[in-house]
Amino acid sequence: MYTNFQHHLQEELKQIESAGLYKRERIIVSPQTSGIQVAAEGKPAEVINFCANNYLGLADNPELIAAAKDCMDRRGYGMASVRFICGTQDTHKQLERAISEFFGTEDTILYASCFDANGGLFEPLLTADDAIISDALNHASIIDGVRLCKAVRYRYANGDMADLERQLQAAQAQRFRIIATDGVFSMDGNVCPLDRIYELAQKYDAMVMVDESHSAGVVGRTGHGVTERYNLRGKIEVITGTLGKAFGGSVGGFTTGRKEIIDLLRQRSRPYLFSNSLPPMIAAAGLKTLEILTRSNELQDRLHNNTEYFIGKMKAAGFDIKPTESAICAVMLYDAKLSQDFAAALQQEGIYVTGFYYPVVPKDQARIRVQVSAAHTRDQLDRGVNAFIKVAKQLGVLK
Ligand SMILES: *Cc1c(COP(=O)(O)O)cnc(C)c1O
Repeated sequence: MYTNFQHHLQEELKQIESAGLYKRERIIVSPQTSGIQVAAEGKPAEVINFCANNYLGLADNPELIAAAKDCMDRRGYGMASVRFICGTQDTHKQLERAISEFFGTEDTILYASCFDANGGLFEPLLTADDAIISDALNHASIIDGVRLCKAVRYRYANGDMADLERQLQAAQAQRFRIIATDGVFSMDGNVCPLDRIYELAQKYDAMVMVDESHSAGVVGRTGHGVTERYNLRGKIEVITGTLGKAFGGSVGGFTTGRKEIIDLLRQRSRPYLFSNSLPPMIAAAGLKTLEILTRSNELQDRLHNNTEYFIGKMKAAGFDIKPTESAICAVMLYDAKLSQDFAAALQQEGIYVTGFYYPVVPKDQARIRVQVSAAHTRDQLDRGVNAFIKVAKQLGVLK
């Protein structure tokens, strides 16, 4: 029964491979941090990691590990239930309150991931009478969430406020409108122009949803995200985010915002109703993360200093860097093959990065994405920049 389908799949896989799009996992044999060991023939190779979302360096933080262990000892391994049946402990409620305080919002609902938070956001709230106006570069999970909802869809070019205004005018035909945007766009590192989005939302009677996955912990002087950057704390109807990036690097997502919105999500959001509760230890480590971020600004300052230092050095060396306001630094190479050769040569130099090309980024916009972390030492950043310069000269990117 399988034979024909098997041939079909083999053909598909061959096509992916010959297009150069086949994804291979790279095996790490150490904790996730700025200096990691990757499995190589013979013995593990030591590389400096510039491609994790571990912005604040919390993925191997001893306080988080201790909080998780302690909670596992006190509360066990898992909940074996969805939240509303018998899967809610006080720790989950405490984390929801802490996230609300962090963002200055009214209430929060936890999910197993931000992918689930976005996937379960729109469908319970909006109907075919309503409109979602979405940035063209929004994350796949927002796109999927919008697809699951019957609302009329409008799309505007990335960060293009004239286009957003046109779409908002068209969307006056619907009953309710919500603008959906990433806080930071992951391929360029640019921040959404939330001040102008908010103004247009006021002018055209729309709500705003921001996904802070790449911006929470990173953007704003104290890392409170794009609402801090634009002084809009408490003004945005819906914020989603992840515990899997700056906030500890494990798993878990959340939606935070207006009380009634969160309340209705608890009644109707399918990933919340039909998927397991976060393990208590994850909730406890999440609480510890927010405690660390609010008791001192040390990690945020270190991330901001590291990012400024790295990008300054790269620009001084002559690299073409996309304008960024986050810890993402897109080193533009434009050519797809060059981006892959460059990344491979960097790995030989002990620098771990990923090259991206079409269709992940637009055609002829191939690049290497560097993600800076608070965990990087000055020495690691210098070694990264020096390796970039060496490889660029080898490959004729710099003279
Ligand atoms: C990473 C990311 C997600 C998914 O988060 P998970 O918690 O890993 O599912 C959602 N939205 C954006 C913008 C992201 O960058």
